[in-house]
Amino acid sequence: RKNDFDIEESMDELKELAKAAGADVEAIVIQNRPAVDVTYYIGKGKVEEIKVFCDSVEADMVIFNDVLSGSQIRNIEAAMDIDVIDRTTLILDIFAQRAQAKEGKLQVELAQLKYRMPRLKGLGKQMSKQGAGIGTRGPGEKKLETDRRHILSRIHDIEQELKEVKQNREVQRAQRKKSEIPIVAVVGYTNAGKSTLMNRLLQMSETYQEDREVFVKDMLFATLDVSLRKLVFNEKLTFILTDTVGFVSKLPHDLVNAFKATLEEVQYADLLLHVIDASNDNFEMQRKTTLGVLHDLGVQSKKIIDVYNKIDKVSDASVLPKDDNTLHISALNKINLDKLIESIRQEIGVKVIECKLLIP
Ligand code: GDP
Repeated sequence: RKNDFDIEESMDELKELAKAAGADVEAIVIQNRPAVDVTYYIGKGKVEEIKVFCDSVEADMVIFNDVLSGSQIRNIEAAMDIDVIDRTTLILDIFAQRAQAKEGKLQVELAQLKYRMPRLKGLGKQMSKQGAGIGTRGPGEKKLETDRRHILSRIHDIEQELKEVKQNREVQRAQRKKSEIPIVAVVGYTNAGKSTLMNRLLQMSETYQEDREVFVKDMLFATLDVSLRKLVFNEKLTFILTDTVGFVSKLPHDLVNAFKATLEEVQYADLLLHVIDASNDNFEMQRKTTLGVLHDLGVQSKKIIDVYNKIDKVSDASVLPKDDNTLHISALNKINLDKLIESIRQEIGVKVIECKLLIP
């Protein structure tokens, strides 16, 4: 559709997202058109073609890699006789499945309801009668509200609850500030290895508790929520680890805003560990994306250590940048983690460190 990014790469990402939501992907369809069709988004002929294909493989759902209007969803569903969702709905569904802590759950549900409101008429009555239900799932086991009046009152309740949660967070932050504990935030593109690194640091610490390991999977998302854990390495070093609501590349702006509240914690960090997947051909693009997100958050002048991860998969490490602010590690295979801890110690220069995880 757009010329400003690689469509095939974007469709591959969408496929990974669909898999993360629990779908099996049968086919990827790309159509070149001079303009978006107001009624069907794609051309009428393409609608027919996809319908025939879906019937032949007994597909449950078609996912569009863009934002659709309520009427487009309604028109396509009527023409194809199948559930239709768009990219934002898919991303929100994944967030809903992964959110663990109270604030994350509330934020996701609020974003879902706000996104659904103007599209309610578009969501077919038979939505997900047999499909995977992707797009209709709220945080936890909940099904999303479908009645307009109920949605409005639920939105109101969530906003109230979020206010209270936010106040609590501010009190906690003030307490931490008082204790003068420096903060280290782990940032980086999805799948760079942030959760793995966090878990490794956790395992290396003396306070390791298996049940508090963050959820690591080879998917686009791993950790989406806020929780605190304390790590004691020895007398010289103590970490408190936090994971925070995250987001993926090209996340619509209203969603970024929805999650900004938790992401703003990075603004209070004293040091950032920027985890980069050195084994990915696109690592430079991913590095820039993360820096762009930090810029959007108003984080421009923080001390950053570039942590090139997965060097076990890099055949020629000489192509990677090398300077005082750069480390080459493998979180998975425990390469150079002691060097990393030493670098953190040097930057912070004190005994106690608080570490946060962010997943753009
Ligand atoms: P996150 O999205 O940044 O939190 O990334 P994860 O920690 O979930 O890691 C994504 C994938 O990369 C997982 O399959 C990890 O096992 C894998 N991974 C992480 N670190 C390394 C590493 O040092 N080497 C290799 N080969 N794989 C790694």
